[in-house]
Parts: sequence; structure tokens; C-alpha cells
Amino acid sequence: MHSFWQSTLLAPDSLPWADAQLPDQFTRFRQQVEAAAIQPAAPLPEPALPPLPPAARQLIQPLAAMDYPATDPRSSFPFPDAAFAGSETAALAHLAQYLQRGLPHSYKATRNGLHGIDYSSKFSPWLACGSLSARLVLQQLHAFETEHGHSDSSYWLWFELLWRDYFKLLQRQHGRRLYHPGGLPQRASPTHNPAAFQRWMAGQTGHALIDAGMRELAATGYLGNRMRQIVASYLIHELQCDWRAGAAWFEACLLDYDCSQNQGNWLYLAGLGTDPRGGRRFNPDKQAAEYDADGHYRQLWSQP
Ligand SMILES: Cc1cc2nc3c(=O)[nH]c(=O)nc-3n(C[C@H](O)[C@H](O)[C@H](O)COP(=O)(O)OP(=O)(O)OC[C@H]3O[C@@H](n4cnc5c(N)ncnc54)[C@H](O)[C@@H]3O)c2cc1C
Repeated sequence: MHSFWQSTLLAPDSLPWADAQLPDQFTRFRQQVEAAAIQPAAPLPEPALPPLPPAARQLIQPLAAMDYPATDPRSSFPFPDAAFAGSETAALAHLAQYLQRGLPHSYKATRNGLHGIDYSSKFSPWLACGSLSARLVLQQLHAFETEHGHSDSSYWLWFELLWRDYFKLLQRQHGRRLYHPGGLPQRASPTHNPAAFQRWMAGQTGHALIDAGMRELAATGYLGNRMRQIVASYLIHELQCDWRAGAAWFEACLLDYDCSQNQGNWLYLAGLGTDPRGGRRFNPDKQAAEYDADGHYRQLWSQP
């Protein structure tokens, strides 16, 4: 058996610092990577593997025949559809069509969208379960840029994939310290309000945007990055609940659940990670006015 490090875009041993000296801010991390022009290695060739033994094939057959729930037409990641299936074949087809349609050139302008398939790449569920390699995504993105030009927008996909690396490397550096109730600075345990937390999970806080997001999450297992930030900030900063309870609910719901990404983002919003600004508080009314000005998203998810 051979094992290969493949969790991150950039191999840890290609970075100019030891594991324990990861820059404590994402921006410094990115700037140092870019200043040193560090690039991921090319993806490894497909290994030649013997066929699965019949007993193993029998074990996985029931999975292929599994019944999925009907697709919710409102879903931004309709996983019961074949095009969004949890396989490498579906992942590669999705990546190919994303590039063919030139979507990297509009990514930066649309990435904060709330509803629809094309506003962001939707790579995350496949990245999280290992059906898609971040290195392969970048290799194909570079090929796309060679053919169709480089833009600030196509650069932004690299920028976001670096966030993914940063949180994975943070996990490598700090391990279980990321799971301390008071986060990396080991502050006092956060406050909690179980009744408010129940209402948040059920999409019954009384704030239309928050409730819409929580209904989408529970019904589809996916939520765009902007809505994740808004609902997480609301739980931590408005409802004064324990960020770990929110992270656990995301873990229970998300199709793209990845412990480093989930933990890293929750700590960042709670101000208990490495963010120098000490937490991110999003005003939900302002966010609704900016990202859902016509109320379409709130209307779409006004019912579970
Ligand atoms: C509270 C909270 C919890 C989150 N939990 C998870 C999680 O469990 N699993 C997960 O994969 N992502 C998580 N994210 C990050 C981000 O929301 C998702 O990766 C993104 O919404 C996935 O959709 P996409 O692939 O269309 O993203 P795109 O916008 O198309 O981004 C492309 C890729 O960049 C990476 N990326 C983008 N934004 C982030 C980010 N904020 N942090 C780290 N990587 C990012 C992802 O790998 C993503 O697939 C979380 C964010 C928040 C605020």
C-alpha cells in the first residue's frame, strides 16, 4: 500500500516554513506563497489497480441502488440528479462544463450569490469527499487561462482554494487546539441559549433572511458561502450561542462537510481563530438589502 499526501493544493513540504510556523494570518500566508511563486505539483497519473474483489463489489452494490430523496427544485446543489452524483465521473464532467462555459471569468462577480447553480463553482462536495483533486482543478484552470485569458475573476478561484489550503494547514499545525471551547486563544467557554439555538436550526428565528438560509441548509445540505457567513454570524453574535453547536449543526447537514473548513470558518467568524480583526459580525438587515434586494431568496425559502 502506498500513501500520498493529497489533501491540499500545495504540498506542505513545498512551503517556505515548517508546519509549526504557518503565518498566523491568511493574507500573509497568501502573499508569501505568491511572492515565492509556489505552485502545486502536477496531479499524479492514475494508478493501475487490480479489479475489486467480488466480495467488495457486493458490499458496494446496494449503495448504487440507494434511493435518493426527490430533487428540491430550489436546490443550488441538486445532489439527487445524476450530474451532481457523488462520483469522480460526475465531478470531472462538472469541472469540464464549468470551464467550457467560461464561468471562471464571471466567478468573482457572482460568488456571493444566494440561489442557483452557476453563481459559484460548486466544487466543494466533490473536493470534500475526495472525488475531485484541488490540484487537478488548478491544472485545468491554468489550461483554461492559457486558452481563454487570465482575469481577476479566474484568479479568484485560486484565491479561494488557498483559503481551503490555509484551513487544512491550520488543522495540521494546531490539531485539537482548534476544538477548544474558547478557540485558539483558549478564552472562556462561550455562552449558549438552547431555545434560541433550536429556533435557529429550525429556521424559526423570525428574521426572514436567516430563516430562509436555515431552511435551505436543512432541505438541501448546501448553502452558499455568503449565507453560511450570515447565519453563522447571527448565531454567534446576535443569539449569543455557542459557535460549536452551530458547527455541529453544519456538520450534520452539509454535503461538503470537511472538518478543517468548517472548524476554521466558524472560528474565524467567532474571532477565536487567527483572524486579526477578532470576529466577523454581519448585520443581517444590511446583508438582506445588499444580497437579496428584491426579496427573491427570502420568498423562495419562505416555506421549509
Ligand atoms: C461557517 C462556514 C462553514 C463552512 N463549512 C465548510 C465545510 O464544511 N466544507 C467546505 O468545503 N467549505 C466550508 N465552508 C466554506 C465555503 O462556504 C464553501 O467551501 C463554499 O461555499 C462551497 O461552495 P463552492 O464550491 O461553490 O465555492 P466557490 O465559491 O466556488 O469556491 C471554490 C472553492 O474554494 C474553496 N473555498 C471557498 N470559500 C471558502 C472558505 N470560506 N473557506 C475555505 N475554502 C473555501 C472551496 O474549496 C470551494 O469549493 C464554510 C464556510 C463558512 C462561512
